[in-house]
Amino acid sequence: MPVCPNCGYEYIEGITFCPDCNQKLVDESMLEQPEEWSEKDWQIVFTSSEDYEIEMLKDNLESAGIAAMILSQKDRNFPAPGDFSIIKLMVKNEDVPAALTFIQETMKKNPEEDEE
Ligand SMILES: [Zn+2]
Repeated sequence: MPVCPNCGYEYIEGITFCPDCNQKLVDESMLEQPEEWSEKDWQIVFTSSEDYEIEMLKDNLESAGIAAMILSQKDRNFPAPGDFSIIKLMVKNEDVPAALTFIQETMKKNPEEDEE
């Protein structure tokens, strides 16, 4: 369905200009795509309430050549239902298996409170 990018009004198929705004209409599905990145391309691979833990993992992933992104409650672009204290670490879909393996390895190497 064509939509005016200016006023958001929906028009029937075949209309190409918004008569109110004199704007070229775009397809509705195009408006749903975030400009900088698409949520669909990224997946949460790790969550924590500790900043340092997420930062450490992100650094480790990036030094291994895996692009990682941190989402926290400070990120207004991300709808965050539930626990706002949780920080999320995301990687691209194609990097998910590698990232999960990498995180597991990292956690094994740095056992927390696991000393005798
Ligand atoms: Zn309009």
